[in-house]
Amino acid sequence: MLSALSDSAGEIEGQREELVETNNNLERAVFERTERLERLNGIFAHALDGIGELDPAGRILNANLTMVRLLGGEELQGRSFVEWLAGNSASDFVQAVGQLVYDARVEAELVIDVAGSGRRELQCVLVRDWSEHQGLRGMHLFIKDVTEHRKIEREMVHQARRDSLTGLGNRRLLHDSLENLLSKGDQPVVVLFMDLDNFKLINDSRGHKVGDRLLRAVGEIMSAESPLGSEVYRMGGDEFMVVLVGENALETGEGLAIRLLDVLSQPVDVGDGFMFVSCSVGLAQGIPGKTSAIDLIRDGDTAMYQAKANGKAGYSIYDDAMNAMILERLEIEEGLRFAIEHYQLLLVYQPIVEIGTGRVKGLEALLRWVHPKLGMISPTKFIPIAEETGLIVPIGEWVLKESMQALAYLRSTLNLDITMNINMSQRQLSTPNVADLVQHSLNEAGLSGPEVMIEITESMAMEDIDRTVWTLNELKTTGVGLAIDDFGTGFSSLSSLQQLPIDKVKIDRSFIESLGMLESRHFGVVEAIIQLCRALELEVVAEGIETLDQLEILDGLGCEYGQGFYWAKPMNLRALEAYLQEFDFSKNAA
Ligand code: C2E
Ligand code: MG
Ligand code: MG
Repeated sequence: MLSALSDSAGEIEGQREELVETNNNLERAVFERTERLERLNGIFAHALDGIGELDPAGRILNANLTMVRLLGGEELQGRSFVEWLAGNSASDFVQAVGQLVYDARVEAELVIDVAGSGRRELQCVLVRDWSEHQGLRGMHLFIKDVTEHRKIEREMVHQARRDSLTGLGNRRLLHDSLENLLSKGDQPVVVLFMDLDNFKLINDSRGHKVGDRLLRAVGEIMSAESPLGSEVYRMGGDEFMVVLVGENALETGEGLAIRLLDVLSQPVDVGDGFMFVSCSVGLAQGIPGKTSAIDLIRDGDTAMYQAKANGKAGYSIYDDAMNAMILERLEIEEGLRFAIEHYQLLLVYQPIVEIGTGRVKGLEALLRWVHPKLGMISPTKFIPIAEETGLIVPIGEWVLKESMQALAYLRSTLNLDITMNINMSQRQLSTPNVADLVQHSLNEAGLSGPEVMIEITESMAMEDIDRTVWTLNELKTTGVGLAIDDFGTGFSSLSSLQQLPIDKVKIDRSFIESLGMLESRHFGVVEAIIQLCRALELEVVAEGIETLDQLEILDGLGCEYGQGFYWAKPMNLRALEAYLQEFDFSKNAA
């Protein structure tokens, strides 16, 4: 019995010890948990982000120090978070809470109004407290003040849309605001495209610093002249754009164009002096829902381009015909590259006649381009483009060779003593080895220099007279004759004509045209030119003789040579061969 008792006492003692042990363990666990909770509370309390516990209706149950501070340091318990939200943010918040039914975590950008510190922008995260049975039991709200951050971001976006030199909006901003006006607006939108005419020259000759000062000054003038409600942009380089909106925007834009042209025709103050500039302006109108921003900018550009083509320092208003013109120009430019290889170029020849005898003394080679789509294109249309693109150099080479070969052929088959007049353009004349090229072509055709005459226009010769004299002297070494074409239109002075090593002068057709009409203003001019040439011992050719009247007057004035439809239009080699056989031989025989 005793032994049984002592056994159970030992058992009880064992259980007690076990209990004590368990108790100790529990106490330790509670202590550790409490300690951990306090640590977590410390983190919760001092976290840099605002953290709060909200009930499903958005009432604040618990908030850490940062949240209290962010929301103005007031008693938050029980108040609805929506109270602080400004503008659309209240509905954004309600929407975000609704989204918690589907997503465990929802982000939102909200704006709060806090007494004392004003409007703040918050980046928020909502994390749901969810149970399968009850659904949304509450949520944790994390908020971060991003007011400064967003301000800098907006500043950067703004900077990316500003031109740093003038402070005006740049091309990107222009594009966005046009897009906006044309998609959402209901009023016509007009762009005024302005480009300085001589900026590159100023920049190259006076330096970039002066160029920059000028651009800044021009930007200020544009802003000062533009009416209220319009916006000025700098597209880059020396291109500026003004956007005007309203029913009368086109008239307003036209008025602005006239004012700008006037103001910019006066010297511009660039800080340490004045500068002379001029500008060309294009205007185009866009209709919301019909015109795109890109199209409107392009139309403004096209109109500006047209203003430049009209002689600069003016303005023009876009119309569809301009676009057709520019497309045609592009087509010509493209096609011209292939014209030689594809045998689309051809030469026609017009006789030059000795007025006294009626004999054909020379021929002028005139270029034609048979375009596969546009048909026969006049040289007055494509030669300026060939000049600009540099294609005139290979084309001119072809003309030299082809026309000399033709002359060699005519001389050998018809046994005629005639010369070939060949037109040469400015760009071709300024190529370094032009004399070698002429010599080479002469050799190839088996001709001697005096059998060929090179024509250059008067305006071309006068552009840089010293250089022209030098180049013409180079050409002279090949023995070719030299003629000044279109004389009377290029403003040359007497003395400059004397400087040039030329043999012949061709009086421009515009003077001959009115001869024979009553009270012709040009009679005196033609008379003076002929006398002048006689004094300088230069031969004279009258261009564009169409009537017997004109011919007789010129004959009376002592003009030696003539060219024109009165005798013959330019014709191809085959027709010319027949013409020369019939016409000239009969005269020769007479
Ligand atoms: P241009 O050298 O002054 O040539 C005379 C122009 O007057 C030619 O026009 C000719 O067809 C035209 N013409 C001649 N007689 C009459 C007439 O009685 N009445 C009228 N209404 N017109 C007459 P085209 O062939 O159209 O050439 C125009 C201009 O193109 C030429 O003027 C010349 O400056 C340039 N050109 C022509 N071929 C070439 C070329 O191979 N090279 C270069 N660089 N220019 C060329
Ligand atoms: Mg000519
Ligand atoms: Mg001419």
